[in-house]
Amino acid sequence: MLSVAEARERILAAFQPLGAEQVAVADALGRVLAEDVAARVTQPPVAVSAMDGYAVRAADVATIPSRLQVVGEAPAGREHKGAVRSGEAVRIFTGAPIPPGADTVVIQENTRREGDRVVVNATAPAGRHVRAQGLDFKAGEIGLRHGRRLTARDIGLAAAMNRPWLNVRRRPRIAILSTGDEIVMPGELAGPGQIYASNGLALAAFVAAWGGEANHLGIAPDDSAALQAMASAAKGADLLLTSGGASVGDRDLVRAALGERGMELDFWRIAMRPGKPLLFGRLGDTPVLGVPGNPVSALVCATIFLRPAMERMLGVEEPAYPSPTALLGRDLEENDSREDYLRATLDFDAEGRAVATPFPVQDSSMLSRLALADCLVVRPPHAPPADKGTPVPIVPLSGGAISQ
Ligand code: AMP
Ligand code: MG
Repeated sequence: MLSVAEARERILAAFQPLGAEQVAVADALGRVLAEDVAARVTQPPVAVSAMDGYAVRAADVATIPSRLQVVGEAPAGREHKGAVRSGEAVRIFTGAPIPPGADTVVIQENTRREGDRVVVNATAPAGRHVRAQGLDFKAGEIGLRHGRRLTARDIGLAAAMNRPWLNVRRRPRIAILSTGDEIVMPGELAGPGQIYASNGLALAAFVAAWGGEANHLGIAPDDSAALQAMASAAKGADLLLTSGGASVGDRDLVRAALGERGMELDFWRIAMRPGKPLLFGRLGDTPVLGVPGNPVSALVCATIFLRPAMERMLGVEEPAYPSPTALLGRDLEENDSREDYLRATLDFDAEGRAVATPFPVQDSSMLSRLALADCLVVRPPHAPPADKGTPVPIVPLSGGAISQ
């Protein structure tokens, strides 16, 4: 059986970065830059005050107290016309340009106003509380590089650089097809033995969280013709993502039904738990990723395979795999031949070290545990028994396209 790493490589090889589109900076949160973003302006454009106070000449306040003539005012956004000469001060506010002649700012707290004069009670070396022109960035400097997923902070920087439009990768379009006679949509009446469909909605949310556009095609019954008809609606998508029907049961039709329609199968079983019956192929121009029906398997496979595929399409630079480590919160037995992804909570011990504690029961149908998990603990094939306190690789489950 294929290893997880090989399966991921083969999946990644089928994707490349999508085209770019222009979006307003206001709509760019979570999008991935397709260009390097250079500043159109220098910030600050001129030297400005960092505090409210008085712009003066440092030499004039070398001896204190010093009594200076207030010759004008410079609020933010308006410069004082004229120079500050010896013996003079200009009332200044945060963000206002430093008038010519002045070379330092005395903060308001160190002064006393006496009519049109100000008494300065503290010395201030040249440059104190002065933000030099271009302190933050200079025109032409690159502030954000292509391949970066934009955070709220990045939006702020792009706006400050006077970049109202940004070139970003188009969102991957992912068609999702659920399968199974036994599942009905939430809100519908469930007949005897039927359960509520969770995969389609969860996978659509996963796609949205990582910057894609999901189109849920619906639930195909366990019937070849119906499945084929519904799958044909995926034409034009960047990926057809199916859930369920990928195993070896008589009703596991995805492989056979799409095979009849010409799907070229790359692989359909991998050495992974959960997620053994993972399928990957191509139907015409559309790659097909078939995740198992068990809800935990579906979402773990999305984390391990779909997310990297989306990141390849989005041109995200250097996805962070493999991931960080944590100390085991309990003893684990020897692993068998499948790479294991254990749902676990993540806490910090008294020394501030991350501790991952796998749930004792790991059934792949248990969404309640998955929802409570903070990370997956990765157990390579044939890993020896591991004691509590052993460092193990983990895959954090939080995160997504929207980040501060
Ligand atoms: P399958 O891969 O079709 O054999 O499905 C494996 C298990 O996952 C079965 O117990 C199904 O009932 C369940 N399952 C399949 N699809 C879904 C779904 N969309 N939502 C919730 N459970 C599902
Ligand atoms: Mg099924």
